[in-house]
Amino acid sequence: MTRDYDYLIIGGGMAADAAAHGIRERDADGSIGILGEESTAPFPRPALSKKLWTDADFSESDAALHTIDETSADLYVGTRVDAIDREGKQVTTSLGGVYGYERLLIATGGRPRQIEGLPPGDRVIYYRTLDHYHRLREKAAEHPHVAVVGGGYIGSEIAAALIQNGCTVTLIHPDDVLGSQTFPPSIAEQVDAMFTDAGVTMHGGAKVTGGQSSPTGVHLELSDDTTVAADYVVVGLGIEPAGTLAAPAGLETSDDGGIVVDEHLTTADPDILAAGDVAEYPDKILGRRRVEHVDNANEMGAAAGRILAGSDETYDHTPYFYSDLFDAWYEAVGTLDSSLETIEDQQGDGSVVYYLEGDHVVGVLLWKVDLDDGLDQARAVLAAGTRPESFRGLIS
Ligand SMILES: Cc1cc2nc3c(=O)[nH]c(=O)nc-3n(C[C@H](O)[C@H](O)[C@H](O)COP(=O)(O)OP(=O)(O)OC[C@H]3O[C@@H](n4cnc5c(N)ncnc54)[C@H](O)[C@@H]3O)c2cc1C
Repeated sequence: MTRDYDYLIIGGGMAADAAAHGIRERDADGSIGILGEESTAPFPRPALSKKLWTDADFSESDAALHTIDETSADLYVGTRVDAIDREGKQVTTSLGGVYGYERLLIATGGRPRQIEGLPPGDRVIYYRTLDHYHRLREKAAEHPHVAVVGGGYIGSEIAAALIQNGCTVTLIHPDDVLGSQTFPPSIAEQVDAMFTDAGVTMHGGAKVTGGQSSPTGVHLELSDDTTVAADYVVVGLGIEPAGTLAAPAGLETSDDGGIVVDEHLTTADPDILAAGDVAEYPDKILGRRRVEHVDNANEMGAAAGRILAGSDETYDHTPYFYSDLFDAWYEAVGTLDSSLETIEDQQGDGSVVYYLEGDHVVGVLLWKVDLDDGLDQARAVLAAGTRPESFRGLIS
């Protein structure tokens, strides 16, 4: 039996939630189906490495998205789509289900990048989902030794979360100073020091090359010829975009496996859109890119929903991203790559950092700076496309 929907969304993540709400902004009655591989309803992932660990007054129900109640979508959890039949306007799932659509959104996000030779298991978590949070939370209650692999925002946030919850933590990352690929040295040193001061054992300058899991622990092999033994391992090495449905359906994919869309978030098939982490789109200010951040998932998902429901808008939002680490926080727009020229404008305890490629500002970091319209100011600097005469107080 085929179940038919006016709007069908593949993926049950944050962009899917936003898209269902976006559809409802324009169409109160059209039927919406959401097919999601995870066992849970859409959930805001940032909470999984932040507030659920660091704010005792914040619970899962505070974070919940209420997708079904608020949009009356039908949500099918534990349902992986295996193929899109564009001619028949239907998709098939790994369970043999067939779902028809008038208009389709691919919002499949990404899958955690894995270390060859270290498969996921009871003691090895490639951290991304609410299920992963539940498992780690249960284990953390025993205050074990957890090796966290990866110095990006997920690895560092999880390491910070675990140490603040009584675990012994070793953070394995490839840089000499944590964050030094992203931040200028003055800030990277502050970041690194926060972890050391909190009691995290920092194992920099190394990558995990393999390991073995046993019923009692995990043994990791590292590129610097050392080993680390821990009770559990949490890996946060970024994602591979989950765009594999596109090419067999004749839709264009990007070099990294994302799904290519135009300014209306539409693929070459006018009835199929893509949004969120998986979508490579033309950003008005920053140019073509994929963005793996929540502001993009929310804004792009909502725009995709409205477009599915007939809006002729373009996606003009240039997303920001953020992270919280202990008492520090930052927000940023564009490219943060410390190998670029960086100019730092100290403001109080924090600073505004500009990342330049030639004469173009390509990234702005607001490090411990609270400004109501700081992100809009940052977008204006990025959009200007020229080197400002002075950076002092340019964003303030
Ligand atoms: C722990 C954590 C913390 C984060 N913190 C921040 C932060 O502080 N700031 C920030 O900007 N960003 C943060 N992010 C990133 C942000 O959460 C993502 O950018 C956002 O979730 C992307 O939304 P999405 O809907 O595109 O993808 P996802 O939320 O990944 O959802 C995609 C869904 O599609 C499902 N799926 C995939 N393939 C199929 C298929 N074939 N059939 C059916 N379902 C499928 C997946 O199972 C998944 O549920 C964080 C991410 C994580 C994991």
